[in-house]
Amino acid sequence: MTPDPQPHATTDNDPPAAILRFLQQISDAAEPGTAPELGYAARVLVPLLGCTRHTLLPFLTKTLSSPHLLQILDTQMALQGRGIIEPYTLPLPSAKGTIVDVQVCPRDILLPDDTQVIMATLHLSPADIKQQRAVTAERDRLRSLFDRLPAFVALTAPDHSLRYVNQAFRELFGEPGNTPCYSIIKGKNTPCSVCAPFDTFDTGSLSICEWQSPTLGRCFRIYSYPFVDDDNASLVLKLGMDITQSKQIQEALALSEARYRSITDNLSVGIAVIGEDMQMTAANPLFAEWFGVPLSFGPPDETALQQFRNLFRNARRGTEHDDTENPPDNDPLTPARKTFADGKVHEQEYSCRLDGTERTFRITACPIRGASDKAGSVILLLEDVTERKRVMERLNRARRLEAMGTLAAGIAHEINQPLSALRLYTSGLELMVEQQHPVSRQTLLDRLAWILREADTIQEIIAHMRSLVLQEDAPPIGNASLNKAVERALSLVGAQLEAHGIRLDLHLAPNLPDAIANLVQLEQVVINLVVNAMHALDSIEASSPAARCIRIETRTENDTSVQLVVADNGPGLHGLETRIFDPFFTTKEAGSGMGLGLSIVHAFVESWKGEISAHSSGTGTEQRDAGSTGATFIISLRRADSTTGDADAHSDC
Ligand code: ADP
Repeated sequence: MTPDPQPHATTDNDPPAAILRFLQQISDAAEPGTAPELGYAARVLVPLLGCTRHTLLPFLTKTLSSPHLLQILDTQMALQGRGIIEPYTLPLPSAKGTIVDVQVCPRDILLPDDTQVIMATLHLSPADIKQQRAVTAERDRLRSLFDRLPAFVALTAPDHSLRYVNQAFRELFGEPGNTPCYSIIKGKNTPCSVCAPFDTFDTGSLSICEWQSPTLGRCFRIYSYPFVDDDNASLVLKLGMDITQSKQIQEALALSEARYRSITDNLSVGIAVIGEDMQMTAANPLFAEWFGVPLSFGPPDETALQQFRNLFRNARRGTEHDDTENPPDNDPLTPARKTFADGKVHEQEYSCRLDGTERTFRITACPIRGASDKAGSVILLLEDVTERKRVMERLNRARRLEAMGTLAAGIAHEINQPLSALRLYTSGLELMVEQQHPVSRQTLLDRLAWILREADTIQEIIAHMRSLVLQEDAPPIGNASLNKAVERALSLVGAQLEAHGIRLDLHLAPNLPDAIANLVQLEQVVINLVVNAMHALDSIEASSPAARCIRIETRTENDTSVQLVVADNGPGLHGLETRIFDPFFTTKEAGSGMGLGLSIVHAFVESWKGEISAHSSGTGTEQRDAGSTGATFIISLRRADSTTGDADAHSDC
């Protein structure tokens, strides 16, 4: 039998002798009588019992004092006293309340000084080994999960030490070792005076904050949770998500929104957004100012919308009306409704009274497409066209005056001849009557016939002028002969060309198909172009008589169009080709040109869905004489006999 060394002296408060002997047997220091050093035992027992190395000794002392365990130890110590040294099992309760079966294997050890002591090794029962492996596997799985998280994780203790960090943390800030959190994360020497995650120690609840790292150039949203570690220490679990990209997107979005807002805010167009329920959800400042609606809406504002609609409804009727009484074309929301129905852009003009004046708005509805191709909402663009309409009306009036002015010279010339003849015939007759000259009945009839013929000519010219000047607002478009328009125009201005020493080079294509146009307007177009060419030629010196020349040509362009060419060998357009069609653009002296002629020509040609172009080919004198300089105007019009012609365009004008 091996003598059991005596444990150190015990007092009343000391644990029972069996416990002390057991602790001595599992301690690192084999010498009897020394305080137990539980390094080896801690490595085995701490993970199993859920206590810490520091608390293991009091935990064991307390646990083993339970009657059941104390009895086991008493029995084993008694057996060992009798020399029977055998393994036994201690069912130790863990901190979590589960029972862990620990096998104690005591054995005799011979110390260097030849004394013999009993030392014990601790083993787990097979079931507990399995459990421990499971715990380890679980822990590894959790660690690898944390390491894969696209966010940094750190367990911070109140002393600013880091008990655990994951892979993302290490990649961002490096290995923490014993470095305190403020040093590794923020590169500081002292703790931060304000630290939102640290507040969690006080509040004991979740805190969320955002932090921008100047060194990393990244922004994190940090969630801090209170956390209790295995050893019951209060820690803070920090989860830091990198939100740099979403921040950048947010900032870019805010910037782009601000940019678009400033554009819409500064546009001279009223803008409102209409939802699918036909409610207004937003408006820009100009729209709000015009119609007295709020700038931004919370829930859709029914009153604002009614206010806006009534302005237009009342403008025509003078009183308020409900839906059933209003025809749809009096409702400024009609374009929006159409856009919701077919997803296309619709526009219409509406009038209303604003601030005591009659105003006209062009309302354009544009779809804003949602996820599907359907319009999710509609943008209403309101353009105040009141002033433009007024200018157009003035322009129209000016057009007529311009046309009359252009024609006046030609008409005066044309009327002058029959008038002189009339005067001659009537004064001849008057003379005969005064001198009591016998006049035969036949002579009288002949003279009267001459007088009537000349009066008819004058009447014809006046009727022609009336038809040209007093046109309907929208003259009918139909089959019009280019050749006829040229002939009629020349009947008015041809004589002037001669008077200005200008040679006319006329090439009218025989059997030219009719164009889709308005004959009277077409004639006005030819007059404008010829008079312009005449004025241009007036400004140059010709080297020989009749060197100034205007060429008028009509021709078939292709299966679908016919062309009119008016060219001269004057000074050319000097690179002003794109500006000459602008209303009021003129290079003539004040009083001699209004700059409306070509804009009228352009408007007419456009209304017939035709095209007009202007070209210039140089200004050299030799080239001019050779007929290769000057300005050329080409008008292409749709052929009336072409299948692509306008279906409505069938009436002769
Ligand atoms: P206006 O004749 O009253 O100036 P138009 O609209 O008819 O107005 O013409 C605009 C301008 O186009 C003219 O002032 C002139 O500078 C230029 N222009 C038109 N036709 C010709 C041409 N055949 N040759 C040179 N310049 C021309």
